[in-house]
Amino acid sequence: MDVSIVVPFYNESDSVAIFFKKIIPILKKSKYKFEIVCVNDGSIDDTFEKLLTEKKRHAEIKIINFSRNFGKDSAITAGVDFSEGNCVIPIDCDLQDPPELILDMLQKWKEGFDVVLARRIDRSNDTFLKRITANLFYDIYNRISDYQLPKNVGDFRLMDRKVIDVIKNFQERTRFMKGLFSFVGFKTTYVDYVRPIREKGTTKWSYWKLWNYAIDGITSFSTFPLKICSYIGLFVTLIAFIRSFWIIFKVVFCGIDVPGYASLMVAMLFIGGVQMIFLGVIGEYIGRIYIETKQRPIYIVKDIIR
Ligand code: UDP
Ligand code: MG
Repeated sequence: MDVSIVVPFYNESDSVAIFFKKIIPILKKSKYKFEIVCVNDGSIDDTFEKLLTEKKRHAEIKIINFSRNFGKDSAITAGVDFSEGNCVIPIDCDLQDPPELILDMLQKWKEGFDVVLARRIDRSNDTFLKRITANLFYDIYNRISDYQLPKNVGDFRLMDRKVIDVIKNFQERTRFMKGLFSFVGFKTTYVDYVRPIREKGTTKWSYWKLWNYAIDGITSFSTFPLKICSYIGLFVTLIAFIRSFWIIFKVVFCGIDVPGYASLMVAMLFIGGVQMIFLGVIGEYIGRIYIETKQRPIYIVKDIIR
C-alpha cells in the first residue's frame, strides 16, 4: 500500500457521496496504490449506512466505526493506527481540504520530503471573529509553547510512514493532533491553497468547543501558564513587602494610625482574586494529569469493515 487517506466523519450524511465522487478519480489518477480509512465518529445520522454503500462500490474503502463520538482528534488517531500506507494523509470530508492538493503533496513526497503541510493562504472565507481568534491563538501558542505550530495549517497534510510510526507511540489521552504532528519534526515543506467554504452540512465547532480545544492545545505543550503564576506571585509579594515596610516605618516613627478600610479591602479582594485564578490554572493541569493517569482508551471501535 502506498497512500492511506484518513477521513473522520461525524454526522456528514450529505457529504459522503460527493466526497468520494471527488476524491477517488484524483487518487486513481495518481497511479499510487491507495486506501481510504473512514472513521465514523459516532454519527447519529445515516453516515455509517452511506459509508457502507460506498464501500460496496469502492474496495479501497476501510471503515472504522466508533461506539460513540470521541472527537475529531481521536478519529484521526484511529485512522492513523489502522492505516497501512507508506504515507498517510488526514483530510476533512466536507471538501474544505481540496483533494486536488493530494497530487501536489505526493509530488513533494516523491521529491523526498517526509511531511508536506497544506497551508491556507487566505482566510477570507472565515468570519471576522474566527480569523481574529485563530490568529490570537497561534500567536499566543507559539510565544509560550516550546514547539512552534505553523500558522494557517490544519490537520490536512502528508506524513511519511517514518513519521507515523513515531506518532503511533504517543499514548497521551489529550489528542491535540496538530501539536503532536509538529512536535515530531522531520523534513517538512508546504503546499499553499485557498480554503473553500463547506459544501454540505455545518461546522461541528462552536466557539465554546474551540476555546476548550485551545486550552487543551496550550496545556498539552506548555507549562508557561504555571510559570507566569509564580512570576506574578513573586511580583505581588515584592510589592506587598515594600508596602509593609512603609507601614511599619510609619507606625514606629509616626505612631499608631488606623485609617484605610478602602485600601485594605482592595488589597484583600485583589489578592484573593489572583489566588483563585492561579488555583484554576493549577487545576487545569491537575485535571489533565488525572485524566492521563486513568489510561482509558483514546477511542472505542465497534466495527471494522475492511
Ligand atoms: N469531525 C469528527 N468528529 C467531531 C467533529 C468533527 O470526526 O466530533 C470531523 C467532521 O466530520 C469533518 C472534520 O472533522 O470531516 C472537520 O469538521 P468541521 O468541518 O466541522 O470543522 P471545520 O472545518 O469547521 O474546522
Ligand atoms: Mg470543515
